[in-house]
Amino acid sequence: MQQEPLPFDTGPTMSRAAPARPAVPTTEPEPKALDVEQPRWPFEVQVVRSTRRKRTVGAQMKGDVLFVTVPSWMSRAEEAVWRDRWADRFRRKANADRVDLRERSTTLARRYDLPRPREIHWSDGMKSQWGSCTPSISTIRLSSRLAAFPSWVLDYVIVHELAHLVVLAHNDEFWRIVHQFPKSERAIGYLIARSDDAEDID
Ligand SMILES: [Zn+2]
Repeated sequence: MQQEPLPFDTGPTMSRAAPARPAVPTTEPEPKALDVEQPRWPFEVQVVRSTRRKRTVGAQMKGDVLFVTVPSWMSRAEEAVWRDRWADRFRRKANADRVDLRERSTTLARRYDLPRPREIHWSDGMKSQWGSCTPSISTIRLSSRLAAFPSWVLDYVIVHELAHLVVLAHNDEFWRIVHQFPKSERAIGYLIARSDDAEDID
């Protein structure tokens, strides 16, 4: 578990500019929209039930198949939880590996005349934040969940965190900088919608 020491987050509560979430009727759950922008999993998942495994669950990538091994006594429901958890973990990794954060942040910093961070990296341990910035050491961390989102959403979070290298607070000056990014409002809405999924992610 990683530490979450920082107040300068990109999270569901960050923006007074964000639109209010529309009320959802209580009778039926809100259907999940099919997200065509989300990349397909680059691999197939197969579960192997093993009599030799006593307690542990493991996963291994062979070619483009992810083999998730579970003990044979495990229930189908538990098996499904572990299968999804491992698939999610490998999917994050596959997506994150495709993105060069150094290059993205350099491009965006140049475009919006912002400082470049000394360090920018993915974090798997961020639960309630999409990004965080530590200006004192010029370091930005981004939730690896973002790697599966459309690139303009990731770019928004990078711009948001780059802006914190200049302005700490979410004040007018801060939002003036951030809103130079044309899809900032749309990205904020996208992230608010995705915040509700947070408990599904380990
Ligand atoms: Zn912020």
